[in-house]
Amino acid sequence: MTPSVAEGAPPDSGAGGPRFAPGRLIMHRNVRHGRIGWVRPGRVVSDDERGLLIFVAREAPVAHEVTEAGLGMRAMPFAEWITSSYRLELGRWTGPALLKFLPVGAAHSVWWFSDEAGRFSHWYVNLEEPGVRWDDGDVAGVDIVDQDLDVVVRPDRSWRWKDEEEFVERLAFPDHYWVTDERAVRAEGERVIARAEAGEFPFDGTWCDFAAPPDWGPPDALPAGWNRPQPADPRALPSPAPPFPPASPTPLRSRDLAVSAPANRASRPISRAKGARSRTAGG
Ligand SMILES: [Mg+2]
Repeated sequence: MTPSVAEGAPPDSGAGGPRFAPGRLIMHRNVRHGRIGWVRPGRVVSDDERGLLIFVAREAPVAHEVTEAGLGMRAMPFAEWITSSYRLELGRWTGPALLKFLPVGAAHSVWWFSDEAGRFSHWYVNLEEPGVRWDDGDVAGVDIVDQDLDVVVRPDRSWRWKDEEEFVERLAFPDHYWVTDERAVRAEGERVIARAEAGEFPFDGTWCDFAAPPDWGPPDALPAGWNRPQPADPRALPSPAPPFPPASPTPLRSRDLAVSAPANRASRPISRAKGARSRTAGG
């Protein structure tokens, strides 16, 4: 009999680290130039040759980078953001429960959004550098670099780019921006779009009816170690990343909710009025 993951050393995922056991809480982190951009905890639904699937509960504790004044990156021009000083702010995920799928080795993840009744509403393709996994025993996670440009795919497989204006704005600051190859990001998006149009996995209905186990509610808080420095990786920048500063101990306020609402932004792409660009933290 083939030993299960639980019985032996975890097999390599083929994606920069060991596989994670189903049910485990891990940190999905966006790390840009060695600084945490956002952190979302999710439970592992499955982790196999297809990739890593995690579930982020509604009201999950999250963290994201803000300026000293408490403003998110999208609340100001990028030219101003890059000259700011930063801290990490704790908050709560204000969007719907999410499934996030990180295909092995791929430069994107696919998120399943649901409506108020919990029914599948659309896919969200988050273009990002392939995840780098880490496991400290008590806490584990996968670090990506969010490349900002996204694709929203509706159930009928029609689609549209999202946040292209911000992507273009930031590309004008190559010394500061974490995306260095615009064409590669767009090309990855186009590959995923072709798959979506064809209704291929994972746009074939897989996981659209997913229901989380009832005991997979949000954890009370991010576990200690959620903000550990990113692991050494060949893809890491040549300059060593400094240790992350401790997260702000500030208690939750309504402001935290306001700036930690990428899901709201992401979940209303179809109805969003032209020119009504949201300025909340990005997804
Ligand atoms: Mg994105």
